[in-house]
Amino acid sequence: MNQPESTTCVVVGGGPAGVMLGLLLARAGVEVTVLEKHADFLRDFRGDTVHASTIRLLDELGLGEGFRALPQSKLGNFKLPAGGKEVTLADFDRLKPPYDYVAMVPQWDLLNFLVDAAEQEPQFTLRMNTEATDLLYDDGGKVAGVAYRTRDAATGVETGTGELRATLTVACDGRGSVLRQKAGLVPASSPCRSTPGGSGSPGTRTSRNSWPRSCPASPVPMSSSA
Ligand SMILES: Cc1cc2nc3c(=O)[nH]c(=O)nc-3n(C[C@H](O)[C@H](O)[C@H](O)COP(=O)(O)OP(=O)(O)OC[C@H]3O[C@@H](n4cnc5c(N)ncnc54)[C@H](O)[C@@H]3O)c2cc1C
Repeated sequence: MNQPESTTCVVVGGGPAGVMLGLLLARAGVEVTVLEKHADFLRDFRGDTVHASTIRLLDELGLGEGFRALPQSKLGNFKLPAGGKEVTLADFDRLKPPYDYVAMVPQWDLLNFLVDAAEQEPQFTLRMNTEATDLLYDDGGKVAGVAYRTRDAATGVETGTGELRATLTVACDGRGSVLRQKAGLVPASSPCRSTPGGSGSPGTRTSRNSWPRSCPASPVPMSSSA
């Protein structure tokens, strides 16, 4: 194992959440290191829609021009035939231009674009092929960084392990988050008042739909210590 290293903030996961957080922190002058376990951003399971509110955000960050130069198509009003009529499911005419459409952009293009912007900031570091494997704790039991392993980009063979200590550790490692599990956090469903196809009271199963899977999940601590 290498000598322990340190940074102010370690962000685990180079998806949209992690890369955007890294960019914002670096712009705010915070030293930040983003760890991404893959060698590139070419994940074809990822979504391609960039919503109007996100385009507005990119404009506010001064990235709108570059974003619009990425290969993309525009999604406008969405209609479906139903019962002999055309039903509008998404009416973008109600949105104020120029934020009145959804852009279809391959997520790897968006991520490469955001990384390019972040790498303009001296406080930003991205480490590809670096997978966080565990949390580190300080003497008081507070999370203080991550243990990681690195892999060779071409062969996938493990090339080393290390520890990156940090004042703040952020898990942006996606829905199957390893760090969430290591921290002893489990996602919990919140009862919803209405679910598609069901009319049961909050938090109840109905015969027509199972427990409300459409509810947002939020992590809650497990009873065991982390
Ligand atoms: C089929 C599908 C279609 C979707 N379509 C859309 C869409 O059109 N528009 C939309 O906004 N959203 C869409 N989504 C949701 C989309 O996944 C999220 O919006 C977005 O990808 C979530 O970003 P994230 O950064 O939180 O997580 P992720 O995109 O999952 O990124 C997590 C990153 O962490 C990395 N990672 C994981 N574990 C580790 C580790 N231990 N160490 C280091 N790195 C690690 C992963 O390699 C990954 O790069 C879709 C999801 C799916 C499954």
